[in-house]
Amino acid sequence: MDVDVAVIGRGMIGGAAGRHLAEQGRSVALIGPGDQYSSHGDAARITRIVGRTGIWTELAAQAIGRYGDIAERSGIDFHVPCGFLAAHLDAADWAERAAVYGSDARLVDRAWVRETTGINISNDLDLVFEGAPGGYIRPRRLVAAQSRLAEAAGATVINAEVDSLRGAAGGFEVSGSFGTISARQVLLATGAFAGDLAAVQLAVERRPRTVVMVEWEGFDDGREIPSLICDQPVDERVEGIYWNPPAEYPDGVRRIKIGGNLAAFVPLEQDQLVDWFHSDGNPDEVDSLSVNLRALLPDADFGPLTSKPCVITGTVTGYPYIGWIDEGIAVARGGNGSSAKSSDEVGRIAAGLFSEAGWDSSIDQSIFTPVHV
Ligand SMILES: Cc1cc2nc3c(=O)[nH]c(=O)nc-3n(C[C@H](O)[C@H](O)[C@H](O)COP(=O)(O)OP(=O)(O)OC[C@H]3O[C@@H](n4cnc5c(N)ncnc54)[C@H](O)[C@@H]3O)c2cc1C
Repeated sequence: MDVDVAVIGRGMIGGAAGRHLAEQGRSVALIGPGDQYSSHGDAARITRIVGRTGIWTELAAQAIGRYGDIAERSGIDFHVPCGFLAAHLDAADWAERAAVYGSDARLVDRAWVRETTGINISNDLDLVFEGAPGGYIRPRRLVAAQSRLAEAAGATVINAEVDSLRGAAGGFEVSGSFGTISARQVLLATGAFAGDLAAVQLAVERRPRTVVMVEWEGFDDGREIPSLICDQPVDERVEGIYWNPPAEYPDGVRRIKIGGNLAAFVPLEQDQLVDWFHSDGNPDEVDSLSVNLRALLPDADFGPLTSKPCVITGTVTGYPYIGWIDEGIAVARGGNGSSAKSSDEVGRIAAGLFSEAGWDSSIDQSIFTPVHV
C-alpha cells in the first residue's frame, strides 16, 4: 500500500491528525494499537475552556468548538458537560481569558460550591467555575470517533504497532505485523512510547503518575459533581490534584477518579515504562490522593478503591511539540498532561504541516518547535 502520510500512533493526537489529514484529501494510514500503553486508556479526561495560559485556552477553545461536529458525524458521544471547578491562585485570570471564547467561567464562593456540589475547599485560593462545555470527555470514545471519521474520509486504520520506520526511495517504509506500507511522509504521534522509530530524539520527560479510582455513584440529592482542579490540597505530598466526576468504566461500575502531581516524582526512562505500566502505581501517591478525596467530599459514602499507573509526556517548552524533526518526518507529541481536551486542535495543527500552506494556527509556530536532546 502507498500513502501520502503514515500517522504512527492512534491516540488522542494521532487520531485527530489522521482525521484532519484524510478530510483534507490526503491518502493516510493511521496506525496504532488500541489503548495499551497510552495516556488515553481511561474513562474520563477533564475538559474546559479555562486554561493556565492563553495558549492552552486557545487550543482548548478551538478543539471544544468541534466536539459537537465530531460526535454527530461519527455517531459516538464522548462529551459530558457537567461543569468544571478550579481552586487556583490565578483563577480570576483563567476566567478573564476564557470569556473571550464564550466561556461562562466566573469566580464563585466556597459556600455556593459546598451547597451545590458538596465539595469542601479548605484552602483560601480563588475559585473559578465554568459551566458547559466544561466537564469531561471520554477519551477512548473520542479516539474511536476520530478513527471512524478518518476511515469514512478514506484513511486506512490499522490496529497494530509499528516496529520499524526506514527511509526508502520516495519516502519511507513503515513495517509491523500488518506488513509494510510505503509513505511519502510520516507523522509521529506516539505519546510517551516514542521508542527509536526516528533517529532524532526529542527532549521529553516521562512523568509517572498514579490515579486512584473509587467506586461511587455520586450524590442522589441533586448535587452534581463537576470536574475539579485543586491546588494546595490538604495532604501536600501531592502539589495539586484533579478529578473526574463519577463516570462509567467498561465493567459497568461508576468511579470517581483522582490524580495529582506527586511533589517527589522521579522521571522514567523509556526502558522503565513497561514495568511501570504493570505496577499499581506509587503507594504514597495513592495514600495522599485518598486522603485528599475524603477531605474534599466529606459527605460521600465511597466504595472500594483501586489504583493505576499512568505517564505524562512533558516537554521543555511546556507545550506539545508540533513540527518537522527530519526530512519527511514530523511529530505531534508531548501532551504535558493537558492535551486530551485539546487533542483535536493539536492534531489539526499537525495535519497543517503537510499542506502546501503549512502552519495553520494563530499561535506562533515557534511555541511548538520540537526541542532535540
Ligand atoms: C493520568 C492522566 C490524566 C490526564 N488527565 C487529563 C485531563 O484531565 N485533561 C486533559 O486534557 N488531558 C489529560 N491528560 C493528558 C492527555 O491524556 C494526553 O495529553 C493525551 O492523551 C496525549 O495524547 P497523545 O496522542 O500524545 O498520546 P496517547 O493518547 O498516549 O497516544 C499515543 C499512542 O501512540 C501509540 N504508539 C506508541 N508507539 C507506537 C508505535 N511504535 N506504533 C504505533 N503506535 C504507537 C500508543 O499505543 C498510544 O495509543 C492526562 C494524562 C494522564 C496520563
